[in-house]
Amino acid sequence: MRRILLADADAFYVAVARAVDPDGAGKATLLIVGGSRESRGVVCSASYETRKFGVRSAMPIARALRLCPDATCVPVPFKECIRKSAEIRKALQQYTPAVEGASIDEWYLDLSGTEGIYHHEPLLATARRIREGIRAATGLTLSIGGGTNKLIAKMAVDRAKPSRGGEGILIIEPGSEQDFLRSSSLADIPLVGPKFQARLAARGLVTVADALRYDRESLGQWMSKREEQWLWNRIHGSDDADVVHRTMNRGISRDETFGKDLSHDTDIERELLRLVTRAAADMRGDGLTARTVAVRLRDWDFKTRSAQRTLPEPVVSDRVILRVAHDLLASLRKARRVPARLVGVRLSGLAPAERLSQLPLETSDVETERDRGLTRAIDRVREKFGRKSILPGGITE
Ligand SMILES: [Mg+2]
Repeated sequence: MRRILLADADAFYVAVARAVDPDGAGKATLLIVGGSRESRGVVCSASYETRKFGVRSAMPIARALRLCPDATCVPVPFKECIRKSAEIRKALQQYTPAVEGASIDEWYLDLSGTEGIYHHEPLLATARRIREGIRAATGLTLSIGGGTNKLIAKMAVDRAKPSRGGEGILIIEPGSEQDFLRSSSLADIPLVGPKFQARLAARGLVTVADALRYDRESLGQWMSKREEQWLWNRIHGSDDADVVHRTMNRGISRDETFGKDLSHDTDIERELLRLVTRAAADMRGDGLTARTVAVRLRDWDFKTRSAQRTLPEPVVSDRVILRVAHDLLASLRKARRVPARLVGVRLSGLAPAERLSQLPLETSDVETERDRGLTRAIDRVREKFGRKSILPGGITE
C-alpha cells in the first residue's frame, strides 16, 4: 500500500513577495504579484483578500486593478522564489528521501515504507508534523493532500486548500477513494481541460458519479480509445505513476581512482566488487531497486569506456548485481587489456522496492526470494556491526 502526499505552498509567490519586502508588500493585505501598476503583465498570484474581489491568476493586471483598485502590485521576485523553493524541498527531504518537485511550489512525497520511522501513526498525523515542520523551518504554509497514489493526493490537496474552503490537510484513507471521487466533479480531475469538460457535459457528464454510471464501452462511444482508457482510470482512482525523485533520476554511482594503475583483471575485479557492494547497499537503504547495471573503466591513457545491461526484472541483491557487473567488466577488459586508472559502477532504472514482482523467473540474471532474503539479512548485520562485517568472498577492506 503506497502512502503518497502532495505538499503545495499556499499563495507561494505572494508569501515570498511579502517575505522579501516586509515593509511594502509585507504590509499589503491586497497584494497582486506579477508586475507593476503601469505594466501590462498578467497576475501571477494574488493574495486571498484580493480574490474576494474576483482577482484570479493569469488575469491581465489592468483588469485585476479595475476589480481591486486599492491593491498593491509588485513584480515576481523570481530569484527569491527559486531560493525559497529549494529551501522547502530540502526541508521536505528531512521526512523522506523520495521528494519529487511537480512545480516551483508543489512536491510529491512518497512515504511508503516509512511507517516504522513514524511509529505507525496515521498518515494524517505525519502530514500535520510535516506541515508544522515546514512552517517552522521556512516560514511558509503548505496545504497537503494524501492517499494511495499521486492522482488521489493531487485531488485531495486541491480540496484541502484554504482558498477552496479546506482545512489545509486532507488524507483520503485507503478504501475510501471511490467515495471521495464520487463527490468530485470531472473538472476536478487534473488535465481535464475546458474543452474536454464541454464535450463531457454535452453527454450529461459533469460529476465523476455521472461518468461512473456508464460502462467502458458506453464511454468509449463518445471519445477516442486513448481518452476512454485515460478517463476510465481516473474516475476509478487508479494511477500507478511513481514519485520520481533525484536519486531515482540520476542513479547511484560509485567509482574509485586507484593509487597506482592496475594491470591484473583480478585486482580490478576486487575493486569493482567493493564498489558494487557499497552502491547496492546504499540503494537498498533508500528503499529502491535497479534495472540497469553499468560499469565504467578508465584506462592508463584516460580513454574511458563503459558497458551496461538492463535486466528483465528490477533487482536488489548483491549476487545478481555482482554477477552482471563482473560480466560487463570482463567484456571491457577483453576489448582492451591495458593498465586501468579507475573503475566505477552505476545502478539506474531505480524504482521503489515494494514493486518487486513476487514470482521471478529462475535464471541467473533474475534474483530469487532467497537472494532477497539473504540480502536483507546481510544488511541487518551490516547495520549492527558496520559495513566491513560482511563482504563478498575475496574482498577485504
Ligand atoms: Mg501553490
